[in-house]
Amino acid sequence: MVMPSGTVSDKHKKLIRRGELFQMILPPSYPGSSFLQKIGQRFINKAQKLEKKYRQAKYFKAKKGVCISAGGFIFNRAMVKEYAPKYSKGMPLGTSQDNGSGIRLGQSVGGRTKHMDRVTAWRFLNPPMSFAKGMVVNKDGKRFCNEMVYGATLGDEMCENNDGKAYLILSEELFKSSKLEAAKSLPFQRDAAKMLMTFNAVKRKNVDDLAKVYGINGDNLKESIHQYNESAINDDYCFLGKASKDMKKIDAPYYIMDISIDSRLSPLPTLTLGGLEVDESTGNVINSQGKAIKGLFAAGRSAVGVCSNIYVSGLSIADCVFSGRRVGKSIGEII
Ligand SMILES: Cc1cc2nc3c(=O)[nH]c(=O)nc-3n(C[C@H](O)[C@H](O)[C@H](O)COP(=O)(O)OP(=O)(O)OC[C@H]3O[C@@H](n4cnc5c(N)ncnc54)[C@H](O)[C@@H]3O)c2cc1C
Repeated sequence: MVMPSGTVSDKHKKLIRRGELFQMILPPSYPGSSFLQKIGQRFINKAQKLEKKYRQAKYFKAKKGVCISAGGFIFNRAMVKEYAPKYSKGMPLGTSQDNGSGIRLGQSVGGRTKHMDRVTAWRFLNPPMSFAKGMVVNKDGKRFCNEMVYGATLGDEMCENNDGKAYLILSEELFKSSKLEAAKSLPFQRDAAKMLMTFNAVKRKNVDDLAKVYGINGDNLKESIHQYNESAINDDYCFLGKASKDMKKIDAPYYIMDISIDSRLSPLPTLTLGGLEVDESTGNVINSQGKAIKGLFAAGRSAVGVCSNIYVSGLSIADCVFSGRRVGKSIGEII
């Protein structure tokens, strides 16, 4: 389906742009965001009316092959619940067209999918560096990851093995230095840290009261803080491989912040990594018998790619370039 070029198409683009602008001002879980979402939706509804009235069906005959490259499915919440339920409370990251239509199209002609449960979840603590010098525990009051690791590694550990629950604990000294460091960070990092510290942080004088804030196991939390402090003062690495130079002793009063997947004030960005299974040498979509479907190819996040098992920054985009070129080469070689 395409919109004919000209004034209607220009108006359509303008409405979509304006609608998306309103919807992107605040993350959808922030208080006050639903108002902005509604205003944005009004522009998008108008654009959709134009679409219904003026769009035209156009048919193209592909002589050699077709490549599905329509993004992932993070905005199709039903698909996320079906394939990757551990991530269904995360904040979708991408474009609204990451709705799985490409993957579904491939499936409709027998394409097999893989790694559909794999999603990358980004819980970046640093900056401010003092956040990462603090301690993160799960609902059981236990540490589960070196807080200095890359954000997608922490997010993965949180969601895969800890029910998406995580709480950041800081001493007053770390809390104060976090404020100073956040002020010097990039605006998007500064604002996220400020939101957490201003509206999410709860201060408590002792560990028993601290544990009660989020119903965390108090005995385990006491033990975790004790172990953390031991590692911080010894010139060594803790059991999770964090160096003592990266740890600061955590004394009362304590601050706790909810950084779980369902934290409204600290939304967890997520994007899907699985898709149509392809022949690794050609990009040809594979069917349920493991055979290539003639003439059907897939690339980018509609397909399984280099980043599908685990993501690090750059790996998805690099795979999009690589997989797109692979398909181009394969189709070019078809006689
Ligand atoms: C804020 C942000 C930061 C990111 N940072 C990084 C990073 O640092 N490193 C990294 O590797 N990745 C990063 N990513 C992820 C990366 O950008 C995406 O994984 C990648 O762009 C996906 O590319 P794609 O071509 O598969 O899909 P897309 O870029 O989503 O393109 C798909 C296109 O298909 C169109 N489309 C969808 N459905 C249909 C349909 N039915 N018919 C016709 N057209 C359709 C869409 O409109 C879109 O134009 C980031 C993403 C975001 C949102």
